[in-house]
Amino acid sequence: MTHIMVLGAGYTGMMAAIRVAVKTRRQGVRVTLVNASPRFTERLRMHQTAAGQRLTCHSIEKVIAGTGITFLRDRVTGLDPGRHEVTLQSGRVARFDKLIYALGTVTDRSTPGVSEHAHVYDDHDGAVRLADALNRLTEGTVVVAGGGLTGVESVTEIAEAHPHLRVVLLSRGTPAAMMGDSARAYVLRAMDRLGIEVRAGAEVEKVLPDAVALAGGELIESSVTLWTAGTTGLPLARESGLAVDGRGRVVVDATLRSVSHPDVYAVGDAAAVRQSYGVIHGTCQSGIPTALHAADVIAARLRGGRARPFRFGYFHQPLSLGRGDAVIQFTRNDDSPRRAYLTGRWAIVYKEAVTRSPLPGMALLKRGLVPARAFRVSNG
Ligand SMILES: Cc1cc2nc3c(=O)[nH]c(=O)nc-3n(C[C@H](O)[C@H](O)[C@H](O)COP(=O)(O)OP(=O)(O)OC[C@H]3O[C@@H](n4cnc5c(N)ncnc54)[C@H](O)[C@@H]3O)c2cc1C
Repeated sequence: MTHIMVLGAGYTGMMAAIRVAVKTRRQGVRVTLVNASPRFTERLRMHQTAAGQRLTCHSIEKVIAGTGITFLRDRVTGLDPGRHEVTLQSGRVARFDKLIYALGTVTDRSTPGVSEHAHVYDDHDGAVRLADALNRLTEGTVVVAGGGLTGVESVTEIAEAHPHLRVVLLSRGTPAAMMGDSARAYVLRAMDRLGIEVRAGAEVEKVLPDAVALAGGELIESSVTLWTAGTTGLPLARESGLAVDGRGRVVVDATLRSVSHPDVYAVGDAAAVRQSYGVIHGTCQSGIPTALHAADVIAARLRGGRARPFRFGYFHQPLSLGRGDAVIQFTRNDDSPRRAYLTGRWAIVYKEAVTRSPLPGMALLKRGLVPARAFRVSNG
């Protein structure tokens, strides 16, 4: 019996496990899914958790019920892709025939003080700790470092939920730089309306217990600091001997198979997937198609069939601006902005539909009725 192990039950690990289990149902295959927590974390909603919203808790076991997948609640502490072995925190060593590596990324903590003094979004508990810290503040300053989409979503959500606090966004470049001029101007106006102080061109040198130090010596007082300025692959991948890129992501070929270990596939944020326009960056938009594709490739190869190359093009950049506003930037395949963008009420509805879609998607996937292309708006 072929044993397929899927490491990580985020959006992509869940999708890959369900897909491969359904596709190989009659092929004598056993699928095991490993995740550190029993909860399916909706990472897309972490900024909502951080702002104190009570969200539904989804159990991984309930989501995969009926698929025949075995769920192991355990932390992966070691991987030996040559010997086909995974070591778990419980002390257990599991053997696999095929592996789907879907462990996502963690916050890049290379800036001094981030590990000790900043909040990060590495897991659900981290977002809850941030929410608790914010709730305890009756006055003071909250600093969000990172002007990418996660930083902007977080700073607007926090400013909306805690109007009595001073909220500062530190961004190395212009915030929401990936958006077109008009959508970005809309984002800046929304932040202004929420009273957020935006510091573009700010280079953080160090995070201190009660401040953030900028290059040039300026200190910005900070009662609570959230760090969203970059992610990196888990050290586990590099330490295991898998070929990784400069950001620690597993380098894969056109069929999403590790270039160094042919029985290992990598998907989602954890994978460095090259397309004609460059290496795709971590989003659900791109990650879910990689998960389904890897599952289909494994199923096809087990049947002795041909594996098709993965092709993907971006479609949009959906961005919430608190609960009362949003902007959707439509994009070209390479994620560069088109002229079209959506704001206000329809953008809120659109963003919520996108955020909500993975769980119903998994339910449909379990029934085996969904073609992989249904999750992919563009084939690049
Ligand atoms: C606040 C925020 C907003 C976002 N908004 C958007 C958006 O609007 N659109 C979009 O496309 N993307 C968005 N993203 C990015 C998106 O969330 C990620 O691209 C997506 O979660 C990647 O999915 P994944 O399955 O690859 O990794 P993850 O979702 O990170 O899942 C990894 C899983 O592996 C588990 N794990 C990690 N290490 C171990 C270990 N050692 N042992 C066992 N289990 C482990 C984790 O617990 C987790 O369940 C957002 C991210 C954040 C933080």
